[in-house]
Amino acid sequence: AQKRYASLKGLPAQSKCGRTIALHMNAGLMADLPSLEGSGAEGVGLFRTELQFLIRNKMPKRAELASLYSRVMEAAKGRRVAFRTLDIGSDKVLPYMKPNDEPNPAMGWRAIRVGLDKPGVLRMQVQALLRATNGRPLTIMFPFIAEHREFIEARALVLREIHREKSLGHAIPSQLEIGAMCETPSLAYAPQAFFEATDFISVGGNDLKQFFFAADRENERVRRRYDTLNLSFLSFLEVIVARCAGAGTKLSFCGEDAGRPIEALVLAALGFDTLSMRPASIGPVKALIRRVDLEAVRGVIEAARAAGEDSARARLMAYLAELPE
Ligand code: PEP
Ligand code: MG
Repeated sequence: AQKRYASLKGLPAQSKCGRTIALHMNAGLMADLPSLEGSGAEGVGLFRTELQFLIRNKMPKRAELASLYSRVMEAAKGRRVAFRTLDIGSDKVLPYMKPNDEPNPAMGWRAIRVGLDKPGVLRMQVQALLRATNGRPLTIMFPFIAEHREFIEARALVLREIHREKSLGHAIPSQLEIGAMCETPSLAYAPQAFFEATDFISVGGNDLKQFFFAADRENERVRRRYDTLNLSFLSFLEVIVARCAGAGTKLSFCGEDAGRPIEALVLAALGFDTLSMRPASIGPVKALIRRVDLEAVRGVIEAARAAGEDSARARLMAYLAELPE
């Protein structure tokens, strides 16, 4: 199979019905970057920046971060890298920060909530990104945006830092994309103005799913209890697809499900044009997308819905079993 995936490297993830899905990779370390070449990913759809903060025993300095981000951009050779600003909370405690004792850290003071309430670290990180960009294009996305106002504030912070860089005589990004991760169900129902304001939305399915089903992603007892192909969840994802389509907003999916071939197929069939996954998943996902007609997959999902089933999985498995190699 590895050989077969390697032979697909230069080929697009184009379905039998002619739709092409952009496959990107998730990363979080400099060491992940060589996989860009090997996997055939078009870019980095999610660069998790937490690790750099978690592996040290003191707050990284702006210059250190700038140098790392710059090396990441060099290694990406002009491909898009979506830098996700710091997503820490009281579950991922930085050794050099005062821990917060929170009963439900996943629903607590984390990610953009910290960034907006105590903007010092977020500002420093944005400055490091701007210095690293040094006149190249820059893509930033904010984790855990739950309402429009949070996005406005976070975006304004970035624009203020760009203004400041400019006034200091530093280069500013030649192009700028600022997006939001959709990880709480509330964002799917945000005002139209939000969808128009954001350059793109990336669905963080790991968090979105845990909040949709109220099932802790860290809890072994419940984390696999609800199927991603549950039709309620698929209906909800369709709302997001429709909201983005209505505003002309680019949409991608970057949770772990994007790297599972059957789930990836369903996401593509629902209308996601970009999927971001661990590099090793790109081959298997591409291989399956190239074998199917996404319209037919939609038909299978509709049939499961019409039959009142909880999940589309059984019918999809049956459909795939009949598929020619
Ligand atoms: C997600 O929630 O799906 C996501 C991509 O972010 P993380 O897994 O880092 O929370
Ligand atoms: Mg998340």
